[in-house]
Amino acid sequence: MRIRVLGCSGGSAPDRQPSCYLLDNGVSIDAGALAAALSIEDQQTIRHVFLTHAHWDHVRDLPLHTINRSPDLPALVIHGLPATMEDIRTHLMNDRVWFSAFELPSPNAPYVASETISPGETVVCGGYKFTAIEMPHTVPAIGYLVDDGEASVMLCADTGGGGFMKTLPTTCSPLKAVFLETSFPNAMRDFAEMTGHLTPEMLGEEVECLPDDVQIIATHMKPGFETLLSKQLAALGRPNLSACADGDVLEF
Ligand SMILES: [Zn+2]
Ligand SMILES: [Zn+2]
Repeated sequence: MRIRVLGCSGGSAPDRQPSCYLLDNGVSIDAGALAAALSIEDQQTIRHVFLTHAHWDHVRDLPLHTINRSPDLPALVIHGLPATMEDIRTHLMNDRVWFSAFELPSPNAPYVASETISPGETVVCGGYKFTAIEMPHTVPAIGYLVDDGEASVMLCADTGGGGFMKTLPTTCSPLKAVFLETSFPNAMRDFAEMTGHLTPEMLGEEVECLPDDVQIIATHMKPGFETLLSKQLAALGRPNLSACADGDVLEF
């Protein structure tokens, strides 16, 4: 499978887009950069968005992408936990801060539709299987284990860790890569734990159970911490550990 990194930052600044990973079949995981990092033409190819959670840096471009879509397109299907979808309807596309794209232009043919997914559930979409993996964070959150029949890749949500990596299903195709966040430097471990995030040291603890042939891709660095975080990741001495960058196209 091919994954195009539209955004992998934990925030936003010039050259840093928030979380958004485009698969090669019109499916996006999170929507932080779905409008800002994708041409208008390419935006017309998006059919499904799988949300990890409702935090702003993961949903930022949903409203703006919606108005960039041709009205002739089928509804964009947004998948997420029931709590996530409720937050999107109530706080994002709610007829106050943005129009309710779930009802317009008509309830029978709206711009967007929602599909809820539960932890442990698998959805087949665009030739891939997406299995929702529950992850501890400050709000309900899931990562997605994406399986194309030959390889699997785990795209994690924001998380404080807690050993979820040991709970991944073993029935999927061989695991090739794990995208995992590291938001704050090691010295900010208390703050990371309080806000449901990982430091490089905590990331190291989470991936200890993974074999060396699984690629670990660090994501979600908070703007300004990238240099320090990269040094602290390198100090882990873990083979196959790297960070991705906006614009990367990765094949698995
Ligand atoms: Zn985030
Ligand atoms: Zn978050």
